[in-house]
Amino acid sequence: MLNNSNFLNDPGLTREINSLYQEQHADITSFICALVEHPSLLGHEESAQNFMEATFSDLGLDIDRFAINHESLKKIEGYSPSVGEWDGHDNIVGIHHAKSNKGKSLILNGHIDVVPVGAEDLWSSRPFDSVVKDGRVFGRGSGDMKAGIAAYVFAFSSLKKLGYRPASDVFLQSVVEEECTGNGALACLHRGYKADAAIIPEPFNETIMSAQMGVMWLQIEITGKPAHVLHDTLGNNAIEATFKIWQHLKKLASVWNQDKHLHPPFGETDAPVKFNLGKISGGEWASSVPTRCQMDVRCGFFPGQAPKKIRQAIEDHLENMIKSDRTLENIKHTITYSGFQSPGCVIDTNGEFISLLGSMHERELGRPAALFASAATTDVRTFQLYGHIPATCYGPEALNIHGVDESVSIQSTVDVSRVICHFITQWCGIEKDD
Ligand SMILES: [Zn+2]
Repeated sequence: MLNNSNFLNDPGLTREINSLYQEQHADITSFICALVEHPSLLGHEESAQNFMEATFSDLGLDIDRFAINHESLKKIEGYSPSVGEWDGHDNIVGIHHAKSNKGKSLILNGHIDVVPVGAEDLWSSRPFDSVVKDGRVFGRGSGDMKAGIAAYVFAFSSLKKLGYRPASDVFLQSVVEEECTGNGALACLHRGYKADAAIIPEPFNETIMSAQMGVMWLQIEITGKPAHVLHDTLGNNAIEATFKIWQHLKKLASVWNQDKHLHPPFGETDAPVKFNLGKISGGEWASSVPTRCQMDVRCGFFPGQAPKKIRQAIEDHLENMIKSDRTLENIKHTITYSGFQSPGCVIDTNGEFISLLGSMHERELGRPAALFASAATTDVRTFQLYGHIPATCYGPEALNIHGVDESVSIQSTVDVSRVICHFITQWCGIEKDD
């Protein structure tokens, strides 16, 4: 456990930070809204990253803007096959070098990319027009995770406004590709950014993340046998076969979920292994038996399991199931792997880093922080597994992330930001900003 006597005990500074935050609701709200209005879908992050570059510059940070170098990343552990390459698809790092260097260094990381909006007509307002209502900001990316970026930006800027800065190096990272490969965060690590800890304010309702599942994307192409519908018994319908194969594949998730007691952080989680049929395309003509169909699937798996073994298990399982299903006799299938090939990880919640974050949360918000084992993946794995940097997610309360009418609580964002600000004073120490 953390020795509380290590804390910088400055009630004056604590009060100064808290009273500054009382005046920052409107500024934090405006920042989230401005960022939501940059529709930073995959491959379209440039304007949002320009905004982040300007934000970091205004904070007096040195700027490092760089694209993902796929050729060099492919050779290192943790790379996932990218789903495309684009211009202006850059990471932005704002660099703070301390003068005194008397504390511990820190990475504050957030992803700028957002997932597609889905059926736009289901939204109450246009997804990239930010709307402030009932103490929340609505819009795609508001919760996941532009409010989180606002939280760490204001944690840093608040110290500056009070005439201080962290007494150790701090790297503010705005990265791409968190939602499909994690190659943005991996590129930061590969470029040499290391620190004594990393915080990602993902919208996990003010919990501290204790573990996350592994995630794999796969694409299965199913080929049937073409025929005119008059002779449909001569053909094999690739679309119907696709659904049968999906039913077979899903059984594997139920089998794996039976092992959750072997993975203690997930012992209490309801079905942590989640498989999702996210996308399907196939068929050629309403009056022809379809020849080909492709499904894009997301599979979850437990920490400690290697993606290579998971791929083998999936392939063996499908092979067996298809062989034993006579209705799939003339069906061929091939599997490719593009996107996440990402192992899970477990976080040491007894270490100094998590203890301090938990203590600051409890001191400032008057309630203990709950631990959260996530069935989803985040960039935390990159810091933990490949950088050997203690990392976690700690971010605001949000609703409908990846869904319709996504929103984030403004009060929760302000609270999380304030806790991170206090955390910085303890972890990094502070020095005068002159
Ligand atoms: Zn996220």
